[in-house]
Amino acid sequence: MKRIALLGATGSIGTQTLDIIRRNSNIFKLVSMSLGKNIVLGRKIIQEFKPKVVSVISKEDCDTLKIDYPDIEFYYGVEGLTEVATQKDVDIVITAVMGSVGLKPTLAAIECKKTIGLANKETLVTAGHLVVESAKRNNVQIIPVDSEHSAIFQCLQGEGTNEISRIILTASGGSFRDKNRDELKGVTVKDALNHPNWSMGAKITIDSATMLNKGLEVIEAHWLFNLPYEKIEVLLHKESIIHSMVEFKDTSVIAQLGNPDMRVPIQYAITYPNRLELVERPLNLWEISTLNFKKLDFNRYPGLKLAYEAGKVGGTMPTVLNAANEVAVDAFLQNKIKFLEIEEIIEKVLNMHTSIHNPDIYVINEVDEWTRRMVYSKIK
Ligand code: NDP
Ligand code: MG
Repeated sequence: MKRIALLGATGSIGTQTLDIIRRNSNIFKLVSMSLGKNIVLGRKIIQEFKPKVVSVISKEDCDTLKIDYPDIEFYYGVEGLTEVATQKDVDIVITAVMGSVGLKPTLAAIECKKTIGLANKETLVTAGHLVVESAKRNNVQIIPVDSEHSAIFQCLQGEGTNEISRIILTASGGSFRDKNRDELKGVTVKDALNHPNWSMGAKITIDSATMLNKGLEVIEAHWLFNLPYEKIEVLLHKESIIHSMVEFKDTSVIAQLGNPDMRVPIQYAITYPNRLELVERPLNLWEISTLNFKKLDFNRYPGLKLAYEAGKVGGTMPTVLNAANEVAVDAFLQNKIKFLEIEEIIEKVLNMHTSIHNPDIYVINEVDEWTRRMVYSKIK
């Protein structure tokens, strides 16, 4: 029996993780979980999966739920996320909250020697060096859930990092891939949320449209696979069938393919190094017939360029990139700023910041908070 903690159970990755657990209830057990504000869905999940420990965002929701489910331990806030992630009888923590709020519970879980199934890329962008160092020191494995990183992780089984000449992350191009920069001026939230290939949470769907998602993924790949940015490339591939590729020093390329279905990388993270049947539509390449590829243009996607630059500077620069993006995307979703202002704001705040080298968790938190204040002041 594999005992699972799930951070972000009510989200897109969260509910798909629950589907995997539901289909394999003889071997997987949900021990603890967190949700945010979606209490209606949270109650349904609690009733079906009967976890021992649950955390929510607010104290009010926590107090109400305690009365309704006296057999369950309830917590709230970031401390609650940490409780969920560090339960004694948990084997693997699936981190599927949105945003850098995932950092603290992830670090705590690693210190408790839990295997991490990492979907929450913002955590690695915010403080990748702390997460990777702690995982190394505690001999903890971080298994990627993000489809591109799962693909690379699968391509690298049995291979050494020294053999890699580059990794190629594929990008669908998001909801506006057929628009030029001029056509992006008047786009709405509704247009931006209409992703052609994947159904995901709102924030990552906007990140895909700005290509910031791929930028965060480049930084995520840098930390997960210990590779310099020069060896990480992005390729436009609109069908999202090749999830990513590794080129080795003899020019041989290994790719991982599949229909776009996040349950495949989620399940692999839980079962690694083994695999489990997932009865779904198989990949029939004859049905797809053609796969398209296009060179990525940084002028069309300046957000990706900003991410590469922030990653290369390192220190607290990626922390600023991530926090500025989180606040700007939230403001766009609330119709407070225009789509193109997301990258404008990020660039302005990055330019205001001087990177701090090798930051500890306190510096990371300060810089994250400073960035959020700066972005709020620009939005007002
Ligand atoms: P969703 O927005 O669908 O879900 C986010 C989850 O986190 C929800 O359970 C939400 O709770 C909870 N949450 C949000 N904010 C907080 C907070 N401040 N404190 C505690 N809990 C919070 O996001 P996704 O599932 O799409 O994405 C989750 C993570 O996985 C992100 O880091 C994303 O980049 C990554 N990812 C997602 C993919 C996808 O296909 N969706 C693919 C690859 C990576 P509630 O809804 O109850 O308020
Ligand atoms: Mg991805």
